[in-house]
Amino acid sequence: SSGSEENDVVVIGGGPGGYVAAIKAAQLGLKTTCIEKRGALGGTCLNVGCIPSKALLHSSHMYHEAKHAFANHGVKFSQLEVDLPAMLAQKDKAVSNLTRGIEGLFKKNKVTYVKGYGKFISPSEVSVDTIEGENTVVKGKNIIIATGSDVKSLPGVTIDEKKIVSSTGALSLSEIPKKLVVIGAGYIGLEMGSVWGRLGSEVTVVEFASDIVPSMDGEIRKQFQRSLEKQKMKFMLKTKVVGVDTSGEGVKLTLEPAAGGEQTTLEADVVLVSAGRTPFTSGLGLEKIGVETDKVGRITVNERFATSVPGVFAIGDVIPGPMLAHKAEEDGVACVEFIAGKEGHVDYDLVPGVVYTHPEVASVGKTEEQVKTLGVEYRVGKFPFMANSRAKAIDNAEGLVKIIAEKESDKILGVHIMSPNAGELIHEAVLALQYGASSEDIARTCHAHPTMSEALKEAAMATYDKPIHI
Ligand code: FAD
Repeated sequence: SSGSEENDVVVIGGGPGGYVAAIKAAQLGLKTTCIEKRGALGGTCLNVGCIPSKALLHSSHMYHEAKHAFANHGVKFSQLEVDLPAMLAQKDKAVSNLTRGIEGLFKKNKVTYVKGYGKFISPSEVSVDTIEGENTVVKGKNIIIATGSDVKSLPGVTIDEKKIVSSTGALSLSEIPKKLVVIGAGYIGLEMGSVWGRLGSEVTVVEFASDIVPSMDGEIRKQFQRSLEKQKMKFMLKTKVVGVDTSGEGVKLTLEPAAGGEQTTLEADVVLVSAGRTPFTSGLGLEKIGVETDKVGRITVNERFATSVPGVFAIGDVIPGPMLAHKAEEDGVACVEFIAGKEGHVDYDLVPGVVYTHPEVASVGKTEEQVKTLGVEYRVGKFPFMANSRAKAIDNAEGLVKIIAEKESDKILGVHIMSPNAGELIHEAVLALQYGASSEDIARTCHAHPTMSEALKEAAMATYDKPIHI
């Protein structure tokens, strides 16, 4: 139905960038079509990313708590086991409910949904090979590329999604591997490593760089790594994988120090390759219409999300910036606002980052290292959850809040939280930074007692004055 009539907006890709852009465009009164090849909306995030990983993180955490923490709370039972098929089924149910939910939102907002693979035939026409095996041409005055990203492979390591898996395979292993090797200590590797580690795998993380999650504040990172090590995750940093042999029953990896040197071997039943993601534009025909990309394949855009071709825009993982779902969503809304003749805005300095392990690590703004590099005079205020009454009451008091504020003005520059629910706690800080708050602003804001959020208030007190409870 969308084929012949011209749309105001055509979105290629139905991930968090694309589907949000499509809904927003329709809400602004623009005639909108969204093209998605996967057969389900929600993109990487909903189908094989954020959502299924959080489902498994929660389920595996419940098992781990039952095994290691319930007895401390006086809850005892005689038998405990993992029913992996049931665990995977609950994850799949969450995913399919949510993808269908987005289809419902498309209907409600009158977004036309075309299921198929889109490629440009001109800057205002997209040819779609539909899932039903037909071809249709979708026309649009404005076209938004929201084709996202894909797993980055490693030279010499072939992903078969059985023994050598990407994050996608790691979300659906049919058995709990005895030994899991994770290549890459970014947040995806640590989250998936945590899932299988909690379920019983021996997990070794091999990382080329000298640190896990390089973007993290150094002090927080040190405590975070120690916490993961306490959970029996092993780390081999400054190490590169130079060979992978899958001819035997399991996998034999050949490793070498990053700086060169003597080789060692490491055995695994399953290897997870999580060495980053790469923008996905294959088969899109960018060359045909002249859309420019940078040297790593990301589509270059200006501050209004416009590509080098008039009428063609790009958002989300396929353009430079943090490869995160909420960033893609912000891009989508702002891009459509520009198209509709309004003003859009995304503050890339205030995109929060969360690692959903246990404890979680969440941050917004600058790390202490970044502030040092900028040469700004600053103060740091910290507060440990060991001194927070709610965390003690529930016997879950690992971690801390760290606030970095400019010395002269007390303006908050960065907030870093490691705690069981840091991903929720961080948003008070995100809002504070958004409003240019000082640490005293947070410290003088009444926080309900007893809550974990009080640790943020106390860390704020510690930044410009003294905390009460330590
Ligand atoms: P995508 O979600 O990749 O969507 C692009 C869509 O476009 C895809 O569905 C694809 O099928 C479709 N497409 C591509 N080309 C075409 C074409 N030519 N025609 C039609 N359709 C096409 N981010 C977070 O913020 N929080 C998390 O907790 C988190 N966890 C993650 C866990 C894992 C295991 C992974 C892999 C990623 C995770 N991410 C997380 C990252 C997040 O998934 C991405 O940042 C986000 O999905 C990017 O959104 P997007 O819309 O730009 O692209």
